Amino acid sequence: MAVPRKKVTRSKRNMRRAHDALNPNSFQECSNCGELKRPHHVCASCGHYAGREVVSVVDKAYDDDEDAA
Ligand SMILES: [Zn+2]
Repeated sequence: MAVPRKKVTRSKRNMRRAHDALNPNSFQECSNCGELKRPHHVCASCGHYAGREVVSVVDKAYDDDEDAA
């Protein structure tokens, strides 16, 4: 098994991890309904993307169950 030559200091370890933080999810307003949606994703509330309806949203409650599964 490979053994590290010397202990990594708290300073070096923390400097390495300075870039490890996750960014919060970004959201944009849907151009059709104004609901917040993720960029480059179909709007979850109205099913529109790039100015046209690509997914028909029938029942909100049913869709919520489908997302959870
Ligand atoms: Zn929308």
